[in-house]
Amino acid sequence: MVVRDVVIAGGGFGGYYAARKLEHLAPSDVRITLINDVNFLTYAPLLPGAAAGTLDPRHIVVPLREHLHRTELRMGWVTGGDPQRNTLKVTMISGETLDYSYDQLIVAIGSVSRVLPIAGLGEHAIGFRTIAEATALRNRVVRHLELAEGLDDPEARRPYLSFVFVGGGYAGLEGIAFLADFAQDALKRYPRCREVGTRWVLVDAAPRIMPEIQPQLAEFTVGLLQGRGIEFRLATELASVAADHVVLSSGELIPCRTVCWTAGVKASPVAEEMGLPLDHGRIVCEPTMRVVGFENVWSCGDVAAVPDPAQPGQACPPTAQHAIRQGKLVGRNVAVALGHRGTVKPFTFRTLGSFAELGRHNAVANLMGVRVRGFLAWAICRFYHLAWMPGLDRKSRLIADWSTEIIFPRDIAEMGQLGHPPRLSDPVPRPPGSAV
Ligand SMILES: Cc1cc2nc3c(=O)[nH]c(=O)nc-3n(C[C@H](O)[C@H](O)[C@H](O)COP(=O)(O)OP(=O)(O)OC[C@H]3O[C@@H](n4cnc5c(N)ncnc54)[C@H](O)[C@@H]3O)c2cc1C
Repeated sequence: MVVRDVVIAGGGFGGYYAARKLEHLAPSDVRITLINDVNFLTYAPLLPGAAAGTLDPRHIVVPLREHLHRTELRMGWVTGGDPQRNTLKVTMISGETLDYSYDQLIVAIGSVSRVLPIAGLGEHAIGFRTIAEATALRNRVVRHLELAEGLDDPEARRPYLSFVFVGGGYAGLEGIAFLADFAQDALKRYPRCREVGTRWVLVDAAPRIMPEIQPQLAEFTVGLLQGRGIEFRLATELASVAADHVVLSSGELIPCRTVCWTAGVKASPVAEEMGLPLDHGRIVCEPTMRVVGFENVWSCGDVAAVPDPAQPGQACPPTAQHAIRQGKLVGRNVAVALGHRGTVKPFTFRTLGSFAELGRHNAVANLMGVRVRGFLAWAICRFYHLAWMPGLDRKSRLIADWSTEIIFPRDIAEMGQLGHPPRLSDPVPRPPGSAV
């Protein structure tokens, strides 16, 4: 039997749901291969919980092999493609470079932080898009509490206890809210840090936070977080970053040793190497998610510019809710292209709304135009994530973590050494951990 190959590049929300749909619908002569750089899907909306220690980082990822049964998973880094020859170039984890041939290709490699040319940003700031970054942020908070606790001069402690987040979208807001709460809890165990307190500042170039929610909800969010001591610098840009301070466009200098950059995303730059049409770096798709000008290449998720049914003339926003629905539909459409009954369908999903969890049983939500806030919004957020987290085992782990959080204080062990063992050949053991 001649095998027909479907290759999926990227195993996040878009790629994972496309593979699942194909597993159900693709004819039996179809081989599905998923290429991803890691062997799990990261449930990114729960990264703030992982950063703040309310969720175990392992519990917000989904091992792809556990949930995909007919799909062949290959760990590697897609570096480009030649759609004229129907090949995809991949550097495997072994270091070997392979050309994957396909009959149908789905590109779902997501997005990366959009970094602006600001002096010192690339060297000193940290992003907030991956498990590694969320874990590093948490470790940095704990490590800096430890460092500051050891300093006699209260003034010298301040930069270690000051944290600046740039970007007032859901990632920045949830990140600063969760981490400020975490530090507040942790301070109980750091008497010398408590004398100085921690400082949290959110900077955004726009005059308001979260454009996705109504102005009243945005104002409520700012008021709520200000009540917890978080400072806002809106209509203000980050001018420069150094190891121990940032300077804002207003001229203000903030002594701090942690800057978290959440000011926007852009399509993975690997898209530029795929030989496909791009619009602002995203792969240009028809409403069916077929790439414009190619019969057998499809794209979905953050990397794809799929026409947004809710906003004619614009591409869908880069959100998980879109990537999930696009992944399911592109999987179905590819199955149809391979002989499954039916016709390819256009993407018609309209956003259900958006929400931001703000910690301490509080959240804000815009649900199809209806404003919800406080405990009800928080409960809706938690149920939503629980519903969308794939697999009963992962759902149970989330419930267990969330329940533990109610009863016990947060874990303040600093585990920066995880996965970095000392070399057996080192004559003298190195001091634990390295500067994060
Ligand atoms: C902190 C945070 C909070 C968020 N909160 C929300 C929220 O509340 N609601 C919401 O709807 N959305 C939220 N999002 C956005 C959402 O996570 C993304 O829109 C969604 O993950 C996009 O899905 P995707 O499949 O396009 O990309 P991803 O889920 O990022 O998957 C891409 C996959 O491809 C892999 N990959 C990338 N490049 C390569 C390559 N060259 N070779 C091989 N593999 C590659 C990546 O490792 C990843 O596994 C949040 C994002 C962040 C960072």
